[in-house]
Amino acid sequence: MFSTFCQRVHSSGALWPSYASQMHSRRRFLTLAAGTALGVAVAGAPRGWADPAPTLAAGLAGRAPTAWGTTMPGIVSSFKPDGKQIALTFDLCPGGYDDALVKTLVANKIPAVLFLNSRWIDKHFGQAAELAANPLFEIGNHGTRHVPLSVTGRSAYGIAGTRSVNEVVDEVWTNHQKITALTGKAPTWFRTGTAHYDDVAVAIVKQLGETPLGFTVNGDGGATLKPPAVAANLTAAAPGSIVISHMNHPEAGTGAGYALAVPKMLAAGWQFVAVSAVAGR
Ligand SMILES: [Zn+2]
Repeated sequence: MFSTFCQRVHSSGALWPSYASQMHSRRRFLTLAAGTALGVAVAGAPRGWADPAPTLAAGLAGRAPTAWGTTMPGIVSSFKPDGKQIALTFDLCPGGYDDALVKTLVANKIPAVLFLNSRWIDKHFGQAAELAANPLFEIGNHGTRHVPLSVTGRSAYGIAGTRSVNEVVDEVWTNHQKITALTGKAPTWFRTGTAHYDDVAVAIVKQLGETPLGFTVNGDGGATLKPPAVAANLTAAAPGSIVISHMNHPEAGTGAGYALAVPKMLAAGWQFVAVSAVAGR
């Protein structure tokens, strides 16, 4: 089921211009940070970095990863429910915008964490601002280039991951700053493109002040499932599940699947809760 997860958005590995232009400054800053007492390198940050990345613990640079995947300690993948509670998350990978899905969530007052990728924000800035202004939604960080997070270049579904601590920081922090500028609030949840990490990358994300948010249920099979299958995945979810689906494929069955399932689940006594209200961080 996961073989198509986010796969359709990876046809181009090109860096978008503002990312490329920041790479040099970012590397310079990290080099400065690495060579000083940790935590005091902010003065070395170039102008314009009003919110420089926190410096990282010294041991991370030389640590070899020992785990790889979508679930491991440090990734929040479920929550302790109080009754029939479920939490929704949606990824906005580079691609389109599922307006019908948003309308279903808003009409039924369903909260969700929306993971916005940097390239999606650049293409859909007005819609990103609208989503950010809606109190139902919390905006999470879905990465800058939309790649797996690795310190060794490990791949998922044929998509090459980041290759170093510096590249992990770039992948998290460039979009962290973009989302902070968009929403006025630093994102606290992170999810990689492909949802894969190694354990060193998970530690880096946490040191940057974000928490990797995984999932219990793959609601839309990477935006490949027809509406009845999406609805079946939702209605079969156990209380305490965190569901992942996609909001960037309006042509897929995702939106219609949620339109089928959500009213039925509400009528059956299900409560859709905000992850941040129940994750107990
Ligand atoms: Zn994605």
